[in-house]
Amino acid sequence: MLAYIGSKVKELEKKIIGCRRDLHKHAEPGWTEFRTAAMAITELQKLGYTIKMGEEVCKRSAMMGVPPAAELKAQQERAIAQGANPELIKKMDGITGFTAEMKFSDGGPVMGFRVDMDSNDANESKDSDHKPAKEGFASINAGAMHACGHDAHVAVGLAVAEIVASMKDKLKGSVRFIFQPAEEGLRGAGPMVAAGVTKGLNYILGMHVGFQADKKGSLVCGAKGFLASTKWDVTITGLSAHAGAAPQEGHNALLAAAVAAINLHAISRHGDGVTRINVGKMIAGEGRNVVPPNAFMVMETRGATSELNNYMAGEAGRVIKAACDMYQCSHSIEVTGGTQSGESSEEMIEIVYEAAKELPEYTDITKMKDFGAGEDYAHMMSEVQKDGGIGTYVQVGVTRMAGHHNSKFDIDEADLLPAAKLMSYVIYKVLRK
Ligand SMILES: [Zn+2]
Ligand SMILES: [Zn+2]
Repeated sequence: MLAYIGSKVKELEKKIIGCRRDLHKHAEPGWTEFRTAAMAITELQKLGYTIKMGEEVCKRSAMMGVPPAAELKAQQERAIAQGANPELIKKMDGITGFTAEMKFSDGGPVMGFRVDMDSNDANESKDSDHKPAKEGFASINAGAMHACGHDAHVAVGLAVAEIVASMKDKLKGSVRFIFQPAEEGLRGAGPMVAAGVTKGLNYILGMHVGFQADKKGSLVCGAKGFLASTKWDVTITGLSAHAGAAPQEGHNALLAAAVAAINLHAISRHGDGVTRINVGKMIAGEGRNVVPPNAFMVMETRGATSELNNYMAGEAGRVIKAACDMYQCSHSIEVTGGTQSGESSEEMIEIVYEAAKELPEYTDITKMKDFGAGEDYAHMMSEVQKDGGIGTYVQVGVTRMAGHHNSKFDIDEADLLPAAKLMSYVIYKVLRK
């Protein structure tokens, strides 16, 4: 079957690269993937997939960081001007996420494949040494650039959908492609999960070009350490004193905690991505006429990457110390948990690993790496795992011309072919009769 899949991929080579370049040229940032989604839906319908779109697959009230209505309207008009089907745009009702499902048999396993579609909010390089600029497929949409490779994800995802559809007589169960908007900023997976797109999935597969698989032939079958978070219990110790007769002798731990809490929430946000902080609980003091000698806070920080979370935790430590110094209090911090919120299932890593070993294109295969970055696919994967399913996140090797989110980000498109081959083969191995 691998030989068949390989020949199909070869057949689709021009289409994959053409699709990637077309999407690259018409980059659409989070929640505005109207043209991208319309093109993909049209393609998938032709292949016989059942499409679900709009609020059925993406809970509107859970959508975060959505551009203002006027901007969304302008982007819809732009999408139509750039060739999108106006009827489909209307049907989306402002929601670009959709699913495409194909059922091969009653019962049997259900396999999900998540594809993210959004570009970055970035301006693409116009330099002549940047291939997309030189060859005329750099983004024509100001402030929007595919600098992460999600254009390649859609191109590969559609090729995989085509190959899987062509093998339908040999498969059981069903396959569900989840085309997700707004991965950048970690906004799109949550509302799709809230609408139930992961319900009933026994397996889920996610893929990213590059990152830790940063050259041709490399492959990372699984990942852990997605969204970093730190949970702290903070104990502040001061000195009690008579609040009426000798307040000057006390060290007020309640005030130290209060000042700390307010300023923890005032920590400057970070330009590199999403950060969070919350003081969720505070207990302090003893009696009405006693200067409070004790305080206790329960808090957490979060970051889209380990670095961002470390920044938040570092600043939080500084703020707590400064507040305690102000009131001559001492403090101790107990780390009570956190760090990450997603990890590939071992069993699923094995499936990918065993499949990849049969592809001569992958010469440098790693089973698992610490991802160390935010990726809201972790949200979908953990939902599937919670329901008893298994999943993994695969980083497929591509030779990159610059790092992700760089204005000169570009990939060697030839490396997309083994990616399409591997993903199709993994789906085949899981769903074969
Ligand atoms: Zn990115
Ligand atoms: Zn990405």
